[in-house]
Parts: sequence; C-alpha cells; structure tokens
Amino acid sequence: MESSSSATKQECELRRGLQEEEFFLHYQPRMNIRTGEMMGAEALVRWSHPEYGVVYPDTFIPLAETTGLIIPLGEEVLRQACLQHKEWEMQGLGSIVVSVNFSPRQIYESGIVENVATILHETGMDPKFLEIEITENVMIDVDHVLGSLRGFKALGVSISLDDFGTGYSSLSYLKNLPIDKLKIDQSFVFTSTSDMNDQSLVKTIIAIGHQLNLGVVAEGVETREHLVLLQRNLCEEAQGYLFSKPVPASVFKEQMRVWEGM
Ligand code: C2E
Ligand code: CA
Ligand code: CA
Ligand code: CA
Repeated sequence: MESSSSATKQECELRRGLQEEEFFLHYQPRMNIRTGEMMGAEALVRWSHPEYGVVYPDTFIPLAETTGLIIPLGEEVLRQACLQHKEWEMQGLGSIVVSVNFSPRQIYESGIVENVATILHETGMDPKFLEIEITENVMIDVDHVLGSLRGFKALGVSISLDDFGTGYSSLSYLKNLPIDKLKIDQSFVFTSTSDMNDQSLVKTIIAIGHQLNLGVVAEGVETREHLVLLQRNLCEEAQGYLFSKPVPASVFKEQMRVWEGM
C-alpha cells in the first residue's frame, strides 16, 4: 500500500504535468481489413515526464480518475486530437476518423456534452470524424450515462464500446444504448489462434455485433493468423502491432502508405 502522502505527491505531480503541458498523444492506425485501407487512428495519451521520461497511461490514468484530474486531462487530450485531425485535413488526409478514450468519470461529469461541443467548435473539428471510446464499466449506472451518450450522438460524434467482453456483460444494454461499434478486447484476440474457447468468443462477439447492426473492431492484432481469422469471420476493422504500435503524429503520416500496402 502506498501512503497517503505519496498519493498526494503523485497528485501534485499530475497537476504540475498538466500545468506544464507535458501530456501528448501517440496514434495507432485502425485498418479496414476488408479493403486494406487505413481508415482511422486511436489517440493514446503519454506523459513526457522531466525525470522519468515517457510515462504510459496505465500508470497515471487511475490516479487521474480518483482525483478528478481526468477532467482537465481529458479536455487536453480531446483538444490535441481535434487539432491533429485539422492538421491532417489540411494535408489532404481529412477522412481519417480519430478515436479518443473517455473514462467513466468523464462520462458522468455534468456538462460533458457541452464541453465536447465547445472543443469541437473551438478547434473546427468536424464531429463526424470523432469517435469516443467508452468501456463497459461505464454501464454501472446506465440511466446516468444514457443522457451523455445521446448528447454525443446529437453532436454527430460516434461511440464505440471498448474492451468488449471483459466488463459488465449484459447484452440487454447493447440494444438500448446509442453505440456504433464494439471493440473486441485484445486479451481474446491474443489467444484466438491457440485457445478454441477464445476463438469461439471472438466469433461470437463479431456475430453479436453484426446481429445488432454494429461495426466490429478487433484490437491486439499481432500476427497474420489473427488477421486471417478475423477476415474469415467478416470483422471490419483491426488494430494492433501487426500494422503498427502507437506512434507520434509525424511518424503516422509517413507510415500511411506502408500500412496500406500490407
Ligand atoms: P485501450 O484503450 O484498450 O488501448 C489499447 C492499449 O493496447 C494501448 O496501450 C495500446 O498501445 C496497446 N496495444 C495496441 N495494439 C497492441 C498489440 O497488438 N499488442 C499489445 N500487446 N498491445 C497493443 P496504452 O497506450 O498503454 O494505453 C493503455 C490504456 O490507457 C488504454 O487501453 C486506455 O484504457 C487508457 N488510455 C490511453 N489513453 C487514454 C486517454 O487519453 N484517456 C483515457 N481516459 N484513457 C486512456
Ligand atoms: Ca481504447
Ligand atoms: Ca481496448
Ligand atoms: Ca484496456
């Protein structure tokens, strides 16, 4: 257990990092695996810490959530992603969909829809190119969340359900919530070619998605075998180290042709 004083110290660090604008984004391509086209990018936050170097989100997102600092951090992330999309648009790559992760805490925040609307407006980002990724854990309080999700949809933003299959798997909310896509959790994809139960799960999730008219994205696609399995089962999109790790925006643009040739 960490002492409360060290937790407070970490909180001060987070606050300082936000103040000093030390957070930045990497982008991981999302491929249409039917056509081979690169069609989107997931934005993933990193912290360029003056002492520790690049710090990954699993180490600071939980603290950002419990302290509420996820609210300003989330706004910063969204603003950077929208500005990056604008830049790509000016370079002629405008049809890329950028997806941004939102924590449950952000979705529950009152005024979240207005905040997103303001950032879209200020950056000039076309909402149809923004996708918000939420996790199943957000469904702990479905009634509360429904208003926010409907608000996002009304703005013209799309919504995907991340890490699908790992959380509160009640299939009933799938048909009641205004979501557009399911993202198959990477833990199922990793073992889909070695573990027959996980393979069945992957196939079932794709079938459920299609039955409900939802798009299906697989993440954690690391091998050709993973890809072939997904293609055979008519999954639309995939993301993973087979194509690319998350990279800085500058590298992302350079790599585009290489990915599409894969
Ligand atoms: P996630 O949204 O499920 O993102 C996928 C994670 O898997 C990313 O880790 C990504 O780098 C990694 N990944 C992608 N493809 C592969 C693969 O083929 N193999 C393996 N082994 N890993 C792969 P990352 O960037 O460290 O992010 C971890 C988590 O932190 C994310 O999981 C997400 O829950 C959270 N996160 C990241 N950025 C943000 C953000 O801006 N806001 C919020 N609220 N959460 C974020
Ligand atoms: Ca995600
Ligand atoms: Ca995920
Ligand atoms: Ca995850």
